[in-house]
Amino acid sequence: MIIVMKKNSQKEEILKVSHQLQEAGFHCHLVEGTEKTIIGAVGDKSRLMNIPLEALPCVEKVIPILAPYKLTSREFKPEDTLIRVGNITIGGSELQVIAGPCAVEGKEELLLIAQIVKQAGASILRGGAFKPRTSPYSFQGLGEKGLQYLALAREKTGLPIVTEVIDTASVDLVAYYADIIQIGARNMHNYALLKKAAKTNKPILLKRGLSATIEEWILAAEYIITADNPHIILCERGIRTFETYTRNTLDLSAVPIIKYLTHLPIIVDPSHGTGKWRWVSSMAQAAVAAGADGLMLEVHPCPEKAFSDGAQSLNPDNFQKLMTNLNNLAPYISKKEKLNHA
Ligand code: PEP
Ligand code: MN
Repeated sequence: MIIVMKKNSQKEEILKVSHQLQEAGFHCHLVEGTEKTIIGAVGDKSRLMNIPLEALPCVEKVIPILAPYKLTSREFKPEDTLIRVGNITIGGSELQVIAGPCAVEGKEELLLIAQIVKQAGASILRGGAFKPRTSPYSFQGLGEKGLQYLALAREKTGLPIVTEVIDTASVDLVAYYADIIQIGARNMHNYALLKKAAKTNKPILLKRGLSATIEEWILAAEYIITADNPHIILCERGIRTFETYTRNTLDLSAVPIIKYLTHLPIIVDPSHGTGKWRWVSSMAQAAVAAGADGLMLEVHPCPEKAFSDGAQSLNPDNFQKLMTNLNNLAPYISKKEKLNHA
């Protein structure tokens, strides 16, 4: 529930109310606005019997949050959450493009593609060092070497890096190198991993599970926020449907729905969403038109030779063309002013 405190409530009064709630077993989160302070309290309502909240002189009103998710809900926090990574903001007025290879394949290849995506206007570099592959025979990633190459690419280009963590054992290692920790579709339901990754306090890019409903996805984000990490970026990457022409069905309706239900930024990954490079540009532009805060795109210097996901990776030319289109279109088709060129 949300407890709206009266306009000129004193700090002590606010702390007293949240203390009483905590004693009754509630988790409290204070949001101090310019006008009013609200207390978000999550817990068992039947334990409120001894706390006459609405009768307290400092309390203006008590609003129940009906959705199963609480702290991620728009009801709880009406303003958009902005995620800051270096001098980049995700969720603000600029469209952020995360680009890079599916997997880090080698030092030279990564440095080359990092330069290419930066020059084209990407603001964050992606690349998997630990790959959650469907087949155990497929390339599993370079592990820590891959993280080191990503760190080197960041040093050379200034681009922050996002990379996936696939198990609890490697959370600290990945957090040591990454600016943003990615939790992949296959791990969206791995609650131990969500909680451990949250504890690093790094921004978490949470992909939608292969067959997750929007509610299940937001509840996964709720695991992160209740572990005291509000720095969450949701990523729509397509879901499994009966359609097999595309690898997944990119659910662009998730973009306005997530914005309506939550205060978190949402980006779209049309690479995994379609599985074929030919459809990536159209869906990237559609995602921006739908209001996405950013895009995640797989780009490879030579997709035919990629160790993984070559079929859905853009080559440098096609990536550059898409970025030019986005630069021209973004101000007209969404609230975004322009691409970030930081
Ligand atoms: C990826 O981004 O490389 C990836 C494995 O994506 P997903 O978890 O969406 O399949
Ligand atoms: Mn991939």
